[in-house]
Amino acid sequence: MIAVTRPYLPDIDKVKAYLDGIYERQWLTNQGPLHQALTTRLEDYLGVSNLVLVANGTLALQIAFRVLGIGPSVDRKSQAITTPFTFIATASALKWEGVHLRFVDIDPESWCLDPYRIEEAMTEHTQAIVPVHVFGNPCDVNAIEKIATRNDLKVIYDGAHAFGVKGANKSLLSNGDATTLSFHATKVFHCVEGGAIIFRNPDHAERARRIINFGIDGQGEIREVGINAKMNEFQCAMGLAVLDEMEENMASRALAWNTYHDLLKGVVGLQGRSREYTNNYSYFPILLKDEVQLSRTLAALGCEDIGARRYFYPSLNRVSCLGTDEDSDLSVAESVASRVLCLPLYSGVPARHVAEILLSSIMHKENECI
Ligand SMILES: *Cc1c(COP(=O)(O)O)cnc(C)c1O
Repeated sequence: MIAVTRPYLPDIDKVKAYLDGIYERQWLTNQGPLHQALTTRLEDYLGVSNLVLVANGTLALQIAFRVLGIGPSVDRKSQAITTPFTFIATASALKWEGVHLRFVDIDPESWCLDPYRIEEAMTEHTQAIVPVHVFGNPCDVNAIEKIATRNDLKVIYDGAHAFGVKGANKSLLSNGDATTLSFHATKVFHCVEGGAIIFRNPDHAERARRIINFGIDGQGEIREVGINAKMNEFQCAMGLAVLDEMEENMASRALAWNTYHDLLKGVVGLQGRSREYTNNYSYFPILLKDEVQLSRTLAALGCEDIGARRYFYPSLNRVSCLGTDEDSDLSVAESVASRVLCLPLYSGVPARHVAEILLSSIMHKENECI
């Protein structure tokens, strides 16, 4: 079986060496030495500052909203502009914080939030823009920053897919008031479960560190109502071991990504990727002609035990429990969501084999098993 993804498992002896340290110190959680080491190494690797580790990427979003004051108050409704073409957690984290969703359509090339549609969707309740660097492809960060400044809005990027993406002299992740990351097992870099928030303002990072520790500050004083969203030493051990092998992991993913790209370009639709930013080879999405071709392709791959995935589907404006403040035109997001497939991508994936099966299905070769 070739699954759509496979968690990266670093050398077990390296993991054991980190675990031995945890056993010796008997320090399992609460800002231990591995927590400190991972924070520093990630800031270094990513080229960012004010990075706060948290228990997962969903809490990263929720804490970022809290710290930046995004949420309702007794006399004020709260609303955020976001994309319907993302994983459910971007939208559910906002809802969980009591923030109404205002979906804005995506750009047909980048598949990220279309900046030219943001201002027409704003209302008196809009507090924030929550764009997503979809499949690691950067949003139009300059246009979004101008809009946010002009309208006095906060910007929180969901950078769950964008680990390590860099521009000429700046990390993509240092844009906005905050950028959140997910270190879930399926992501390019992972800690089994985990996440981080990168803040522009160091005071915001300090407040986040307090909020994730029950609102207790460095002096042991309870300063506000917080939550428990700490990352523990075992998660950090996995993170450090994965980071130690990042170069091999990325080289293998790059090879697979480029194989797909060479074999499939011109045959299926592809995301229009930024030339100014690096690729982190996190996903290989393809766009099919229509849902009929998509079903045929999924079936043909399924016959060979290849698990491609409809990701993201459906467009989140179709998810009724999210109950959106909706009236804008989301036709691009709906069209892309109905035709997109993510191909298996992980370190060591047999990309050529997957691409050949996909190609023969698209060229209408009959497959005995269908
Ligand atoms: C994975 C993911 C999340 C959630 O992260 P978890 O660590 O699984 O909670 C949020 N947003 C996007 C776009 C994701 O892909």
